[in-house]
Amino acid sequence: MIPFNKPPYVGMEEQYISKAIRNGKICGDGEFNNKCQQWLENYTEAKKVLLTTSCTSALEMCALICGISPGDEVIMPSYTFVSTANAFVIHGATCVFVDIRPDTMNINEQLIEDAITERTKAIVPVHYAGVGCDMDVINNIARRHNLYVIEDAAQGMCATYKGKSLGTLGDFGAYSFHETKNYSMGEGGAIFLNNKKYLEMAEIVREKGTNRNQFFRGQVDKYTWVDKGSSFLPSEINAAYLWAQLEVAEEIKKDRMKSWNMYYSGLKELEDKGYVSLPYIPDECEHNAHMFYIKVKDLEERTNLLKYLKDNGILAVFHYVPLHSSVAGRKYGRFSGDDKYTTKESDRLLRLPMYYGLTEEEIIYIIEVINKYFD
Ligand SMILES: *Cc1c(COP(=O)(O)O)cnc(C)c1O
Repeated sequence: MIPFNKPPYVGMEEQYISKAIRNGKICGDGEFNNKCQQWLENYTEAKKVLLTTSCTSALEMCALICGISPGDEVIMPSYTFVSTANAFVIHGATCVFVDIRPDTMNINEQLIEDAITERTKAIVPVHYAGVGCDMDVINNIARRHNLYVIEDAAQGMCATYKGKSLGTLGDFGAYSFHETKNYSMGEGGAIFLNNKKYLEMAEIVREKGTNRNQFFRGQVDKYTWVDKGSSFLPSEINAAYLWAQLEVAEEIKKDRMKSWNMYYSGLKELEDKGYVSLPYIPDECEHNAHMFYIKVKDLEERTNLLKYLKDNGILAVFHYVPLHSSVAGRKYGRFSGDDKYTTKESDRLLRLPMYYGLTEEEIIYIIEVINKYFD
């Protein structure tokens, strides 16, 4: 069986985890947390990055910092992971779902303005498959309506929009280092603070509502409870696992890009014949090969192809059930305008195996099986 995903592993993880243990400090904000944060700040040119226990918790931090409260509305695509919505819904917000663009599967920036009401607080674009949303348009709308922009860049590490790293374009960005992402620490994530004015609040929210960070810097002589907060610091053991991958981040990206490009050229003929659609990368975006998906005719064909691949030893998967059609999504959200593409395009989408270390032979085999199916 060719699995759909393998957690990234580069070989130095055990050594760094041992080092974290021997350092005598395995809670957060030790050597490896700091190294990872520094690396991310340098690589992305973000103003400030803080590691978190997940992308979900990074998004929850954003909701707390923005003061999301009952009655507020948050605009997002329906075609996304539940965390995009939950982070705001747990604070009483209503999700306002906007249709996607069929070419990138990202929120259709042209439809956002129609979804804004006097209760709207934030826009949460999701960079699906590490392909950037049209951030210039989104930021412009946000500025004119005085809204926060929180990028769900869970899949966006090492990808850019107009030369700038995803996650650094809005007020906040959230990364994921879950084992299904390009770079991993098992469970983990990061919050990107693109405006220094949110830093103090972010540190407090992340440290259980205390000013412990200021205490460690000697800015206050004892630390105390100063605001709302929770526990969002990852352990040094997890950060040590991530550090091993950051050291070879470019190599991991190159490997994934090679696989992505092989899939693309190997399946191009099927696209030209009209059997499948392949991913589209806008000129202003550089992607990170987080995912390789194809879109087939409809739901029935996808079901058949998934089964055919499985019978031939290949684990492919579909992706999100649109949130507006889920039990919780109906309760906590509403769709703005028409669902012209969200359901239709998500029904057609099928993700092929993609991970660091996927071999050329495996990709050649997968392409061969897909071609045989359409024969
Ligand atoms: C993976 C993912 C998340 C959640 O990440 P965690 O680190 O598991 O919390 C959120 N949003 C999107 C778009 C994702 O792909």
